Amino acid sequence: MYVSRTAEAGPPLHPRVEAMRHAVTLAALAVLLAPVGCASAPAARPDPAREDEHMALARRVLSTTPLFDGHNDLPWAIRDNDAAPHDVVAYDLRGTTPGHTDIARLRAGMVGAQFWSVYIPYDAVEEGAARVQLEQIDIAQRVFERYPDVFQEALTPDDAVAAFESGRIASVMGMEGGHAIENSLGALRAFHRLGARYLTLTHSSNIDWADSCCEPAEHGGLTEFGKEVVREMNRLGMLVDLSHVSPETMHDALDVTEAPVIFSHSSARGVTDHDRNVPDDVLRRLPATDGVVMITFVPSFITTELPATIGDVIAHIEHVRDVAGMEHVGIGADYDGISSTPEGLEDVATYPVLFAELARRGWSEGELRKLAGENVLRVWRKAEDTRIRLRARPASTATIEALDGSGR
Ligand SMILES: [Zn+2]
Repeated sequence: MYVSRTAEAGPPLHPRVEAMRHAVTLAALAVLLAPVGCASAPAARPDPAREDEHMALARRVLSTTPLFDGHNDLPWAIRDNDAAPHDVVAYDLRGTTPGHTDIARLRAGMVGAQFWSVYIPYDAVEEGAARVQLEQIDIAQRVFERYPDVFQEALTPDDAVAAFESGRIASVMGMEGGHAIENSLGALRAFHRLGARYLTLTHSSNIDWADSCCEPAEHGGLTEFGKEVVREMNRLGMLVDLSHVSPETMHDALDVTEAPVIFSHSSARGVTDHDRNVPDDVLRRLPATDGVVMITFVPSFITTELPATIGDVIAHIEHVRDVAGMEHVGIGADYDGISSTPEGLEDVATYPVLFAELARRGWSEGELRKLAGENVLRVWRKAEDTRIRLRARPASTATIEALDGSGR
């Protein structure tokens, strides 16, 4: 989520499944390529030899490896829909929505897995952040329930791969803003039980136990309680998301965490010097700690010269690849959390265009698979491995008063 009030791989499939998926893709292409408004035209048959080879490679990759985007704010778009706030039925995903996301465009974009952000704004603390968080989880789950042929909730990486192989979009909830837990590790555990699989430690405001990107430092990173939150997330198998936090918070979290981290929607500060982006000294730690930076398309994060373009997105992807390594880059567009988009990447239907452009620049099939979903699936699997390794550790009963003092 970008705007602040209101918001801002798996293993290869069985060859037979791959062949089926490829056939389905070609059939879908035939429909897309069929001439419109020309009744006398013969039924179009795809000619693979004439199809743009880079787009063909992109489609082959995305039909066999889940494109796993790190951040989409559809649940907030539904809550914030002026015509019918909170109304999952009224925000009809089988039609064309006013936002960036609906079912036809998700399918055209070949989205295979999605971390759906259940973002809450910082000012939710005034009405009860945990309550607003529960309402956003409820909206996301009502979406999954309404379209069971399209979305399948995934609680583990294996679930995500299975959903993708069944032709549905693996749907995982990610919380955005540590204020949601109201300084309670019990609340954190309860949200995890409800299906939340990442927590962005802050949004754009500092919270009691962590500094955000975008306010003057209060704590110098994570407080002792903030470090305990990270340890408890490790124990639960909940991914630590370092988008939106300050560089000091990033370093503190990397010092403490026993599992790889994610950046669900951030780009590279080495390309665009924006507070929301990841500095090179943090990128350089990722080979040792593991982790994945899922590159966001937010125009003001990726260029100082608007309008942003697809080339700007690629510059960030390739910078993270060059500094952190090919194993540490992914995609986290932030659709429905942004009010403008780069040219050529207007909505969730456009991911294949980005992958085709990378192919044109020489990215190999294996590299495209890592970017699409293999890297984030590897990171999530390692977080699961950490959970299993830590299963003898009891739930933390620490309190912020005990760890950080009672002056809060
Ligand atoms: Zn955000």
